[in-house]
Amino acid sequence: MRSLPVRPAPMVDEMIQSLAVRTAAANFAHPNQLGLPTARGLRTEQRVAARLAELLDMPAEQLTSLTLSAYPPVLRGEAQRSQRTWLHRTEWACPRCSRLNGVVLRRWQLSLHPLCVQCPSLLTVVGTHREDSAPPDTAALDAQRLIAQDLEPERLHTAGAQRRFADLYLLCELVSATADQDWPRLPGWEHDLRAELSQPHSEWSRHPPDSPVRAAIVVFLCGRALANPARQRLLRGEAIERLAARDDDAARTLVRRFAPGALDTERRRPQVPSQRTQPVLASMIRTIQRLQRTRGLQPRHVPAWPVDATDSLIPTCDRRRELEHRAVTLHVLLAGRWHDPNAEVDARRDLGLRSHRRQRNAMLEGAVDATRAAHVVRIAERLIIQGLIDHQGLRQRLATPSGLLSTVRRQVAGLPVTSDVVLAAWCRLHQSPGPVDEATLASIRVFDRDLDPELRLRLREVLDDYLEGVDPAAVDTAQCPFVVDGRTA
Ligand SMILES: [Zn+2]
Repeated sequence: MRSLPVRPAPMVDEMIQSLAVRTAAANFAHPNQLGLPTARGLRTEQRVAARLAELLDMPAEQLTSLTLSAYPPVLRGEAQRSQRTWLHRTEWACPRCSRLNGVVLRRWQLSLHPLCVQCPSLLTVVGTHREDSAPPDTAALDAQRLIAQDLEPERLHTAGAQRRFADLYLLCELVSATADQDWPRLPGWEHDLRAELSQPHSEWSRHPPDSPVRAAIVVFLCGRALANPARQRLLRGEAIERLAARDDDAARTLVRRFAPGALDTERRRPQVPSQRTQPVLASMIRTIQRLQRTRGLQPRHVPAWPVDATDSLIPTCDRRRELEHRAVTLHVLLAGRWHDPNAEVDARRDLGLRSHRRQRNAMLEGAVDATRAAHVVRIAERLIIQGLIDHQGLRQRLATPSGLLSTVRRQVAGLPVTSDVVLAAWCRLHQSPGPVDEATLASIRVFDRDLDPELRLRLREVLDDYLEGVDPAAVDTAQCPFVVDGRTA
């Protein structure tokens, strides 16, 4: 068989089918006319490589080395279906480079490589249309390059690289199992990319995602974590904690695989009370668990007084007691400790509430009636709508607000005369409603009564600015994207 008149040279890491299409086009032919099959699949690739060797007059080995089959099994998976694979089931290309030069890289067919680092761009699925997204930032590009180092020929077949590919897959699988809009925390571009998705969760067991967006929001974070033991421990810990809060077989299997030590606690973990014995409690627990799983609600998001729009700054004594009861109930549920006799004490401590002399478990002693359960669920929903504010962080930061007080006194002129204690408590009540002793409450009432509306507004503005300036991360991670990646240049 004679070779073709025009014989394009393969680009570095070019996919064999891409070379076949370019060869045909350069010779004004359709691949089929040259005996080049266009179907996808590892076996077809071998036929394409063999045929191209003839057409381009090149050694067969050189062309076979361009196929996906040349990747080690840890990347391409084995013939058995149970084997995990990094190969996605679509075809990815660069929206810029591929359009210009017709080249599709082999590594782009792996879900660990959702970026073209040349132009740079997020890849697109061939044959689909997507609005042009913002180009990846430095954090994403660095992470992509870090992962891609192991794809270089000199590293590809080393034991170290193979272990990292396997570890990366497992970490992605673990993280994606409970990923949502708020967790894990992502740097700027990845955060924005995730915000475009209605549901960031995707299942990585056996198969990685078929979309570059879904791959990018998980794989870079996990790649960075793998390169940093402390970060990896943190990410794994958070992921396992979130999984453990779920109550299904798939979650238990994952926890067992990733945290063999957690298995015992997992076994001891109480089941939800049955619908027959405690229908109200069981139903409330399931609802809260669902909100926790799907929306990322955590104990730290609960304020000590979960007030609603109709509550005044200082609710009445009875109202406060009821609000505290609801907060404790929600906190205990979110901590997954409704069977634990110590849970209520711990929840009260975390919420900054004084402990009752006679400790009891509100969950188990029938203290949750249908009305209170409905209120607890409504509070959970409201906290989600408000953007999951980290009230625990606010309580800690507002416990000793010395910098805040001097800022307020400097920036807000004409404040009614009051002590630092009262001013601090007034500020805290606005940010994270919670317990204040009776004497201070009385003084806050007086101070608040003497504030004119303009001054009150100004005070709240200064308070918001101060908190955001001090630590934007703790105010609201959903609305304040920030870089957690230390590698960002
Ligand atoms: Zn490109």
